[in-house]
Amino acid sequence: MDVISHSATHDVFDTTIIGGGPVGLFAAFYAGMRGLKTKIIDSLPELGGQLIAVYPEKYIYDVAGFPKVLAKDYVRGAVEQGLSTGAVPCLEETAQSLTWLPDHGYYRLTTDKGEHYTRTVIICAGIGSFEPKRLDAPGIRTFEGRGVTYLVRSLESFRDQDVVIVGGGDSAVDWALAVAPLARSTTLVHRSKFRAHERSVQQLHQAPVTLYYPFWEVKEVRGNTWLEHVVIHQTRTGEERTLPAQTLIVAIGFAADLGPLTAWGLTIERNSIVVDPRTMSTGLPGVFAAGDVATYPGKFKLIATGVAEAITAVNHAVVFLDPAARLDAGHSTAVMDKRERAATPH
Ligand SMILES: Cc1cc2nc3c(=O)[nH]c(=O)nc-3n(C[C@H](O)[C@H](O)[C@H](O)COP(=O)(O)OP(=O)(O)OC[C@H]3O[C@@H](n4cnc5c(N)ncnc54)[C@H](O)[C@@H]3O)c2cc1C
Repeated sequence: MDVISHSATHDVFDTTIIGGGPVGLFAAFYAGMRGLKTKIIDSLPELGGQLIAVYPEKYIYDVAGFPKVLAKDYVRGAVEQGLSTGAVPCLEETAQSLTWLPDHGYYRLTTDKGEHYTRTVIICAGIGSFEPKRLDAPGIRTFEGRGVTYLVRSLESFRDQDVVIVGGGDSAVDWALAVAPLARSTTLVHRSKFRAHERSVQQLHQAPVTLYYPFWEVKEVRGNTWLEHVVIHQTRTGEERTLPAQTLIVAIGFAADLGPLTAWGLTIERNSIVVDPRTMSTGLPGVFAAGDVATYPGKFKLIATGVAEAITAVNHAVVFLDPAARLDAGHSTAVMDKRERAATPH
């Protein structure tokens, strides 16, 4: 779905959702369904959050209604649903400061592109604006975008290539398993024991993947205009191998940073915003949080739990805006039928 990004205006919105990942998108749908004038702001050029930026080609098995769904396909539906009730997307904008304007009774939200005005805020910023951790080895920077990659957009591009993957967590192991059936050769290099899910590690040992671990690291990458070789070494023995490679996938994790949001007066614990799980309120009036960014005792960082939190946050935003409003919207079938009847000319 083509998404037209909007820019800051002086219009006052009922709610502004920071983060257009799966949770922010669902919050946008639900807020629109509840009749709120809604805006979504995301620093990335595409909606979809981690699913589109980190693992578009991986299957998700634990969202209700889909026995198995590719992350990018889930996002396609989430974007369609998220924008179906009128939410306005503002992309490539990073939320920076939030100021309550007492004379007006709403907030001014400043981004790197301009100012937005909103009566409530729902923070669905995930792990914050995230950056893949960079590998520090000679040649890496030179070949970034020319064989060295930190994010996988399309598995097809690795067909018949020699692919080297670095890392030992879920991403690295999952990418090795996904790439192996179509690549000419797949090699996984890791400096320690694998930290990935036990079942994935078992599969890895049976897959056509050459493993170099523990104590193996990338020493250097070489090529002309495009990556041609990855030199790896065993840090204990000094043993060295030069592997042919047209692609090096670096999957050694992400550095996540809530950045400017930490200066908003919210309670932050381990890079997450502490909320009251009964309301998803953050303690700042009219400011709620949901999804990976929100924490409370017993929290699960999953899409399914995040979207449920989004419903709670939106319903409480509705009552914050109008204390006489119903907290519980009731069933979507009835709400949407009523919206459709109201929109149909008599
Ligand atoms: C490899 C991998 C596999 C996974 N598999 C599963 C799975 O099988 N099932 C499952 O349920 N979960 C899975 N997860 C977790 C799941 O992806 C997260 O729980 C989910 O993405 C959280 O959604 P969210 O909308 O809260 O945050 P995110 O998806 O992180 O989206 C947050 C958005 O906020 C934006 N943002 C952040 N800060 C700002 C700012 N200041 N201004 C503007 N925008 C901002 C970011 O750009 C991002 O787009 C997996 C995660 C990974 C990494």
